[in-house]
Amino acid sequence: MARYGMVIDTRRCVGCMDCLVACKTENDVPEGFNRDWIAYETRGAFPTVHQEIRSERCNHCDTPPCVTCCPTGASHVEPFGRVVLVTANECIGCKACLASCPYDARFVHPDGYADKCTFCLHRVKDGLDPACVAVCPTRCMHFGDLDDPLSEVSRLLSSRSHHARLPAAGTRPRIFYLT
Ligand code: SF4
Repeated sequence: MARYGMVIDTRRCVGCMDCLVACKTENDVPEGFNRDWIAYETRGAFPTVHQEIRSERCNHCDTPPCVTCCPTGASHVEPFGRVVLVTANECIGCKACLASCPYDARFVHPDGYADKCTFCLHRVKDGLDPACVAVCPTRCMHFGDLDDPLSEVSRLLSSRSHHARLPAAGTRPRIFYLT
């Protein structure tokens, strides 16, 4: 069974926000909310300053605190690709998952349920990439099976230096940033 993840090349991302627009359009994300966003991180001091631009979203963690804290089972790990999802009609909007997520990746949809990135699983099941990956004009985003050593994401991770967000949180995130 696949274990889906993303690999994003921070050297190619220009922060154009096409991924945000694609996500909002594809998933009908309501006004005022986002399932993905752009983060800017500046390191070093003049004249050796480096700015990393990252397209961020739910990390679909291997050990997701949002799933273990959910009192109803609405937050769950989908067997297909081991993607973390929310079953809207089982969610009571208690926000326990919002509080548990170290990445601040969730919001409460105006209809009352917790919402977030789904890796566009409806597209993936049709053999397509997530919308954000499909539209990226610099092709900096890659999606695939982290457990397949021959997948593009696995090959990129074995050949390039990379990091993931907040490793100290112990969630084992599945979005990696090439540096
Ligand atoms: S807001 Fe919904 S998904 Fe999140 S913990 Fe509460 S019941 Fe579960």
